[in-house]
Amino acid sequence: MRLVFLGPPGAGKGTQSTRLQQKFNIPQLSTGDMLRAAVKAGTPVGLKAKAIMDAGGLVPDEVVVGIIADRIDEPDAKEGFILDGFPRTVKQAEALADILIKKNMKLDAVIELKVDDKPLLARIENRAQECLARGETIRADDNPEAFKKRLESYHAQTAPVSAFYAGKGALKAVDGMAPIDDVSAAIEKALAS
Ligand code: AMP
Repeated sequence: MRLVFLGPPGAGKGTQSTRLQQKFNIPQLSTGDMLRAAVKAGTPVGLKAKAIMDAGGLVPDEVVVGIIADRIDEPDAKEGFILDGFPRTVKQAEALADILIKKNMKLDAVIELKVDDKPLLARIENRAQECLARGETIRADDNPEAFKKRLESYHAQTAPVSAFYAGKGALKAVDGMAPIDDVSAAIEKALAS
């Protein structure tokens, strides 16, 4: 099973892809997580990405495409994977299509979690509070200013990715405003159809 999860920041992509990872026993590949790890490790990619991420912008396409191309070559992704937070631009989606063709692989589905802008800020504030309660550090970009920029990046650059996949007949839209279990059930239904 090879899946892509689309949706604005705070839509629940991470939560839902973690559930599917357990169900299908395939890795969840989050470019956000990989970039945060690179920032933490102080690698050249991390050094390049940090300021962009903190400000809520998008890291250059060639950087994330390179990361994903390498990651899906790893043995644990052989039977499938869930892409969470990638592709975020049409260029990335086209690059992914090329990579998959070369590897003789294809996507099984693209799931878009649809959530209105308004509840997203409240969700992000919640996420920050939950992090604090767990004794973790709040993500540098989980603040209202960076979040606004992330949402703008989403509408300007990532929303067209949905149209890209809809044009190929691969897009399955799911209401992401429903309670978490209902969203999971809707995703399973969409995958079964
Ligand atoms: P996320 O954890 O998916 O919300 O990603 C956090 C941040 O990492 C984003 O706001 C971007 O700065 C960067 N990022 C993650 N994935 C991508 C991507 N596919 N393309 C460009 N930037 C990305």
